[in-house]
Amino acid sequence: MQLSDIELFFNPLRVVFLIFWFFLCMYLVQRFEYSPIIPDKIRASVNVLILIFGPIVLFIFLVLEVFQKVQGYGMPFFEAIKRALSRANEIVDLSHVTGARGKESIVLVDLMGRNLFEVYGSDKEHENDKYTVEDTLKHTQSVIAGAVERLASDILIDPVSSDNYVVRYRIDGMLRTIEDVDFKRCMAIVNSIKAISGMDIAERRRPQDGAFIARTSQNDISFRVASAGVLNGEKLSIRILNQPVMQLTLEDLGMSEKYQKLAKEKSNHQSGMILVCGPTGSGKSTTMQAMLRELDFFTRNVITIEDPIEYVLPKASQIEINTKAGITFAKTLRSVLRQDPDVIFVGEIRDEETASIALGAAQTGHLVFATIHSSSNAASIVRLTDLGIKPLLITSAISLIISQRLIRRLCPKCKMSVKLDDTQMAKLQSKKVDTSKMMRAIGCGYCGETGYKGRIAIFDMMILNDSDKAKILSSDFSVSNFKNAGDEQYRANLKKQAMKLALTGVTSIEEVKRVTSNLG
Ligand SMILES: [Zn+2]
Repeated sequence: MQLSDIELFFNPLRVVFLIFWFFLCMYLVQRFEYSPIIPDKIRASVNVLILIFGPIVLFIFLVLEVFQKVQGYGMPFFEAIKRALSRANEIVDLSHVTGARGKESIVLVDLMGRNLFEVYGSDKEHENDKYTVEDTLKHTQSVIAGAVERLASDILIDPVSSDNYVVRYRIDGMLRTIEDVDFKRCMAIVNSIKAISGMDIAERRRPQDGAFIARTSQNDISFRVASAGVLNGEKLSIRILNQPVMQLTLEDLGMSEKYQKLAKEKSNHQSGMILVCGPTGSGKSTTMQAMLRELDFFTRNVITIEDPIEYVLPKASQIEINTKAGITFAKTLRSVLRQDPDVIFVGEIRDEETASIALGAAQTGHLVFATIHSSSNAASIVRLTDLGIKPLLITSAISLIISQRLIRRLCPKCKMSVKLDDTQMAKLQSKKVDTSKMMRAIGCGYCGETGYKGRIAIFDMMILNDSDKAKILSSDFSVSNFKNAGDEQYRANLKKQAMKLALTGVTSIEEVKRVTSNLG
């Protein structure tokens, strides 16, 4: 053997390269091991392919990513490499996104505490020619775990054609398609969810309701399931309750110090009504929970009436209404009042009866929190008069009205400073606006390519002052004049706050436009 051969064999560069390649292959195989996107049948072949080509594909992907970032967004070269590396890690970690990783840490149980396999898996009749029960349950679990992990508020499973279903999550208020699923497989998933929710699997057309629980290492998360027969089959809408992300304080929600002080002052009163209003998905319940959590539960008897119970308040008595069983807000509220509570939370005012009992209670020594579906502060006064409530009751009972909207926060991992053209720059500078902190959305694996992660609220608060009260009580009270004047103020206030968030780089100018253009 010649000396040069030995040298070549021990070439340190080559050894380092081989070790690196070996670990990269092992890493990739390990990461793809539990990914439900790879069918079990071809898993072995996929592993072999990964061992041979995996790192090359990853490398090409990295180069493309860096190129795109530098060319397209004008990102500095080293920054682009840093981001591409973290992005590659997320791509490889697809199992994480699709929830397979969560499968050890999440257990689905029905309301009796039986797990998914006990409820559904033991029944051989659920086997179909294409998929095993085990396969189905794994997939169901990964759909649920994925939604929990990505802090979704809803899961929608819809048939889009006669051979395809689509699974979507609602994250930060926006629907995102997660996967297309083969019809037969998805029917099996739908059935397993119906089974664990205590619904009748055989009933496919009549709408049904149900619930189940996901146990994670940190807490229990509740799911509300509704099914309905639709054109191509059956759809499921699943609401996720008490996600830990929702347990925020007023400060976390973005409420200014001035408003926080006002809200706290009104919460310390012995009576009066604090009304939180806004359309669906405007974060009413999150704000409400943040306010309720600040109450002193030791000295005050707090009772909540909700539909459904969205967050658990450990020291309060929480009652869930059930309209179908005749347990309505109004009926429950009446019986609760007999227990002489100090603080009552009425989940939602929807009808005249509930509104008048709640306002009456607020007038007679109870602090009442409630939400109402309306577009603005002034609009909720109008809504109450529309329900038939006497103006005098409104003016004497309501102590504070809060309305809000949610704005998506830019993703902290990928946001970049804005590039303004000369005219835009001149325009903003003439208004003496400091544009140096403005940021824009880019998109990365962390935020699911949307450029946004999480939300912040903007608030408007209204205390009925003497002139408002006089207006509402006067014989020639014009609902539309009152609403128009109130709404104008409300829009101006929210726009100002939204702009401030854009100028400080919390959100983008596009997001501000999106939210403020439909302020009702
Ligand atoms: Zn991002």
